[in-house]
Amino acid sequence: MSPVHKRILLKVSGEALAGDNSFGIEPPFLQAVAKQIADVARSGVQVAIVVGGGNIFRGMAGAADGTDRVTADLMGMLGTMINALALSNAIMRQGVMSKPFSAATMPSVADTFTARDAKLALEEGFVVVLGGGTGNPFFTTDTAATLRAIELECDVVLKGTKVDGVYSADPKKDPTATRYDAIGYDEVIQQNLKVMDTAAFALARDNAMPIVVYALDDEAGLSGVLEGRGRSTRVGH
Ligand code: UDP
Repeated sequence: MSPVHKRILLKVSGEALAGDNSFGIEPPFLQAVAKQIADVARSGVQVAIVVGGGNIFRGMAGAADGTDRVTADLMGMLGTMINALALSNAIMRQGVMSKPFSAATMPSVADTFTARDAKLALEEGFVVVLGGGTGNPFFTTDTAATLRAIELECDVVLKGTKVDGVYSADPKKDPTATRYDAIGYDEVIQQNLKVMDTAAFALARDNAMPIVVYALDDEAGLSGVLEGRGRSTRVGH
């Protein structure tokens, strides 16, 4: 079967790598995420990944404790780089070629991200793992994911979360909440639903980049979600 998508951008949050802990990288969870990604890459889909860093350091938390926000965000971005190196290596251990890129210049650690080099790597069959967020403070890795998806001409942003899509209300608090299979950008705004932070969402809407929200623990796995077997919500026009 030919893949539904040619090129996807997958956002992997820091918490997906921390597993049951809230801090650090848990090897079994790292391997599980890497395996799902490797399976998709082997099916012929080009995969770019933006990794978060919430399992290591969040700028907002650092700023709340007194560190100046720009420094705290730099620390957060370095945290995402640790995750990027770990994930890229774990994907290689699954037998799929992978290359980490960094938004900030650190030549002995990873190639500096340029859209041109990342696209070339994707076309050569590498899973590219993009660390360092956007490279700027005051942004999130959700914004980085949307930005890179647009730059790399991906078909879609996949956002794995703890819930299996976008609901009419918080399903943990409201038992009558229903899940959307698909929803428009404007409906998300009108109904004040939470998909991504405002900057990330505005970038996606303005560039008509679809966002698919799915549960990280969906039984169908990432490849199943991509093939329409899993549960998810597609946000787009
Ligand atoms: N960050 C940043 N600029 C970016 C992306 C991330 O300054 O473009 C910093 C910010 O401090 C953030 C931290 O890196 O708190 C980790 O990223 P994020 O919170 O998005 O990670 P996730 O919640 O997805 O694990």
